[in-house]
Order: sequence, then structure tokens, then C-alpha cells
Amino acid sequence: MYLPSWLSQLYRGLSRPIRRTTQPIWGSLSRSLVLSSQRRNPEFSSFVVRTNTCGELRSSHLGQEVTLCGWIQYRRQNTFLVLRDFHGLVQVIIPQDESAASVRKILCEAPMESVVQVSGTVISRPAGQENPKMPTGEIEIKVKTAELLNACKKLPFEIKDFMKKTEALRLQYRYLDLRSFQMQYNLRLRSQMVMKMRDYLCNLHGFVDIETPTLFKRTPGGAKEFLVPSREPGKFYSLPQSPQQFKQLLMVGGLDRYFQVARCYRDEGSRPDRQPEFTQIDIEMSFVDQTGIQSLIEGLLQYSWPNDKDPVVVPFPSMTFAEALATYGTDKPDTRFGMKIIDISDVFRNTEIRFLQDALSKPHGTVKAICIPEGAKYLKRKDIESIRKFSADHFDQEILPVFLNTNRNWNSPVANFIMESKRPELIRLMETQEEDVVLLTAGEHNKACSLLGKLRLECADLLETRGVVLRDPTLFSFLWVVDFPLFLPKEENPRELESAHHPFTAPHPSDIHLLYTEPKKVRSQHYDLVLNGNEIGGGSIRIHNAELQRYILATLLKEDVKLLSHILQALDYGAPPHGGIALGLDRLICLVTGSPSIRDVIAFPKSFRGHDLMSNTPDSIPPEELKPYHIQVSWPTDSKAAKAH
Ligand code: ASP
Repeated sequence: MYLPSWLSQLYRGLSRPIRRTTQPIWGSLSRSLVLSSQRRNPEFSSFVVRTNTCGELRSSHLGQEVTLCGWIQYRRQNTFLVLRDFHGLVQVIIPQDESAASVRKILCEAPMESVVQVSGTVISRPAGQENPKMPTGEIEIKVKTAELLNACKKLPFEIKDFMKKTEALRLQYRYLDLRSFQMQYNLRLRSQMVMKMRDYLCNLHGFVDIETPTLFKRTPGGAKEFLVPSREPGKFYSLPQSPQQFKQLLMVGGLDRYFQVARCYRDEGSRPDRQPEFTQIDIEMSFVDQTGIQSLIEGLLQYSWPNDKDPVVVPFPSMTFAEALATYGTDKPDTRFGMKIIDISDVFRNTEIRFLQDALSKPHGTVKAICIPEGAKYLKRKDIESIRKFSADHFDQEILPVFLNTNRNWNSPVANFIMESKRPELIRLMETQEEDVVLLTAGEHNKACSLLGKLRLECADLLETRGVVLRDPTLFSFLWVVDFPLFLPKEENPRELESAHHPFTAPHPSDIHLLYTEPKKVRSQHYDLVLNGNEIGGGSIRIHNAELQRYILATLLKEDVKLLSHILQALDYGAPPHGGIALGLDRLICLVTGSPSIRDVIAFPKSFRGHDLMSNTPDSIPPEELKPYHIQVSWPTDSKAAKAH
């Protein structure tokens, strides 16, 4: 490969000898984070006063003089204490002889969670007193000197992973919560994965890590953006929802493989497991097609995947949007378990049952069902009632539970009737067994599928709370969802169109002609990556033709093209064909670590309501400080906020 000399110099500087090593970060957690790297083991004690970390000491260190720094985790009978750092725990013997009275005083009097520095010798524990559960359990430290670096006041909660504490309290004292092994594990694993991603992208595949502005301008469509006032009257910046426009402009600029660990902002209000600011692994490439992006991402995940998990198997399976909706009722199917949606319209073509007949006579009318394995055993009558209520309240749909076991005396008369005549056909189509329950609904295809998709997940959760194992917790099930529609009807006004992904997404090559006749039918070159039923990434091949981009923006989406004149102009100056993707890093790490919430993989997250409970953000600003921005708060007359002010 020919490289200009400045470039070959740059890459020579980056390449390192390859040596494969693994090292546990701490072993006191039952599962250990295995650091794998093609580089040397990290040096945890360089440049600092300690010689070793608390968690690393073993019998091989016997006799060594060490200096350790850590927090006091336990103290027992003023004879020994356990010192903790990120790496683990180590037992320290408190000297009892008179000559060490000052050391004893420090170690006996320092409150729990005080931070101390001790120096001493690594000795073996007396025979029979080893602790096999503790990785440092064969040794202890015979202390010679000790220093109280800083005392700890009475804590709002104990720093022990098993201690239950409310999330609000954890967020208020986040700096203490971060001391837990779980948070340490999550953040260190995150750092490791990002490091390996950088390595894969930049060192193995020649990507360039480029920062893009976070003070930008409002863009049409998509999520709501945060505004930032400027000192020019009436003018505002916007925080970007993603670096989408910049990464495309970088392609026009010839930086043909871009990547960034990018901070994105969306003012979407409170939604479970969303954050107003979050991180994407943002990627764009020139001269690429959908398969190229997909292979890149499969390789990226395989390369950066933690070694203590089952390896990622590639290529990932792929499913069209239409198939995902029809089979799983969602565009992000959890494919770890079955309970698929089955179309049973044909069974009921000549039915006398009124509501089924009505549904089937309408356009796109269908009868669909899912089968809940052993539902008769695990679902209670009140579960079925709440399923029916949910369906009526949220989807305006009726759900018919059909028990195959005819002994169930709480079958509805209609269900019994169905059972009589349709039993063999239903059993054949749904592959049901004696103790299963069929949930049946009739109506318009998309609506019936969406409802059953929701019920499928609800029932899976219910069965699992009752002890049925449906989803293997160690399984990571990746899936590409492809061939999305290019446009969807706007929620507020279904006669108008909005982009299903974003307005820069290219139409499917075989559907381009439909743009001018039946735009609703156009499929796009947009792909989503789904992991265990969660969307963890999405991207597309972009439009690189200014005329087509202008037509879609102005004519089909009715957007103000002036706002995007810079990008339209750029496309006219020899913009290369390009495409990209963004992975939601927070959600990915959340799934990899099995955390209950994305807040558990972010050092300083916002609360569900978008507040930083530690610093009380957002906060009010005195009116005189708003003056330079030419803005003034108009207080809602009856709001709590006004009263609080
Ligand atoms: N910018 C897009 C998003 O944030 C991802 C992409 O199309 O590359 O969803």
C-alpha cells in the first residue's frame, strides 16, 4: 500500500508490538471483568504514592514492602481492617504493640470510608485463616506506618453493593455511589470497550476520530433540540441531536472514514431509559453500501466484545421491517424467544362470529394470535383481565383468550364456540399444546400486530416472574432490521409525511420511481441494529444528489430548505456516495453489563425528569444575568415553578 510520507509516519507511530494478555481487574466480585488487550497490562500504580493496588496482592508478593491507598471498608475488633480500592479488598493487621500506638490510633479511630495510606509487609495469613472467597485471601499486610489522608463523615448510605438505596439518593450522592464495585465495573468495562472500538476503527481500519461542534443550528424534523441563547438578540444555537450533518460534510471534505464518540442532545422530556444527553459511536464512510456498513459494525462488536462473555457470532441475521412487524409486532424484535404472531385469518373466513367477520371485511383486516406456552398454568384470571383492559384502553382492540384445555371453566362463550369448531385448525397453525393459551385479536394488520407485539413482551415478563425461563440471560441476540419505509404519516397530521429515519436517508434503489407517484410505498436504505429487543443503532446510505435531496425536503417533507442550504450546496460540489451508522453507547453498555437502567452505565446521569440531582440542574438564573441574552422568563402564573420562585 502506498502512503504519503506524513501518513505512513503517523501510522508507524501508532503501531505497537502485539502481545495478548488478560488480567482480572478485581476478583472480589463473583464475576470478573477481564481486561483483554493487544497491548501491555496497564500500569495501575505509576506516578502515584502507592506501590500496588489493594486488589492485586497475592502470595507471589510475600515479603514485599508495599504502600497502599484505599478506603476503610470494615474494621473488626480493632485488630484488622479491610482496605478497598477499585481493584479489590485487602486485609490489614492493626499493630497491637505499644511502639505502634500512633499507627493503631489512626487505624482504629478513622471512621469507615475514610481514605488512608498504609505501608508495610505482605505476609501470609496464619494457617486456617485464609479466605478462599477473597482473591487476596491468602495474604495480609503487616502495617508499619499509616496516614489518615482524609476522614469520612457519616455517610448517607453504606458503600456496599448489597445495601438497598433509592436511585434518587444514589444520584444525589453520585460520587459515593461511584465507589461501588458495580459502578466501577460498569464504567471500566465501558472504557475498555470504547478503547477497543477506537483501536478497531482507527488502527485496523483507518478511521479518523474527528470532533464536531456542539453549538449548532436548529435542524428540521427529528427530535426536539435544546436551545442555547446567544448574545445576538433573538438568535439561538441548538445542541445537535447527532453530528449527522457534520459527518456527511466531512465526506464531502474527503475525510472518507470518520468516527467519533459523540455527545448528542435531545429534549424529549421524560422517557424511561432515555437521557437528554447521551453518547453515540458515530460513523460515516464514503463509497460504501449497506452490506459494507453492516460488516464493519459486526466486526467492531466482535472485536470490542468483553472476553468474559460468549463471543459475538457474525454475520448477524437480518429481517425486513415488514416481517418484523408482522411476526413480532415491532421494529425491534426480541428474537430470544418464540411466541410469534400468527395470521389465522383463513381459519375464520366464513365465521359467524360477528366481531371477526366485521374485522375481516375491512381493508387490511386480519385475525391474528399469539400462543402463550403453558399460559393456562402460569397466567391468572386477573392477568387475562388486565390484558383485555390494556388492549381496550390503549389499542381499542378486543382480545379473546382461548384455552385449549376445555376444562377451563372461565372461557368466554365465544371462545368455547371457537374451540368447538376451529380447534384442530388452530392447534395446527399455532402449534399449541394442551396447557397453552392463545390470545386472539382481529383488526387492521398494523394495529393487531402492534398490540400482539406488546402482549407478547408483557406475557414473557409475566411468565418469567413466575419462574419460566424464556430468555437465556447470557444470550446476546443481534438482528439487523432493514427495508424500512422512507416516510411515515406524521403523528399530528397523518396526511403529511415525515422521515422514518432522517431526511438524508436514501431511497431504496428499486423504489426511486415511486417517490414521484406513491411516496408512502418507498422503502429506504435505512438499517437498524437490534440487540435483545432493544434498538442499539441505526443508520443509512445517504442521498448524495442535491436535486433529489431538495425534492424530498421541499416537496415531500415540506421543510424549509433554507435551513439546510449549506448541506444542499455541499452536495453539489462533488459529494461522494456515502453512508453511516450510529451506535447508542449507553444502551449497548447497559445490555452488556446487564444493568437495570442506562443511568447505571453513565457516571453522572440525569434523573428520569432530566435533572441532575447532585448539583440541582437545571437551575434558575437571576434576571440580570439573562439580560445579555435579551431574554426574559415569562413565569406561568399558576405553576409550581412560579411559587417556588
Ligand atoms: N445520525 C443518526 C442518528 O442519530 C444515525 C445515522 O444515520 O448515522 O440516529
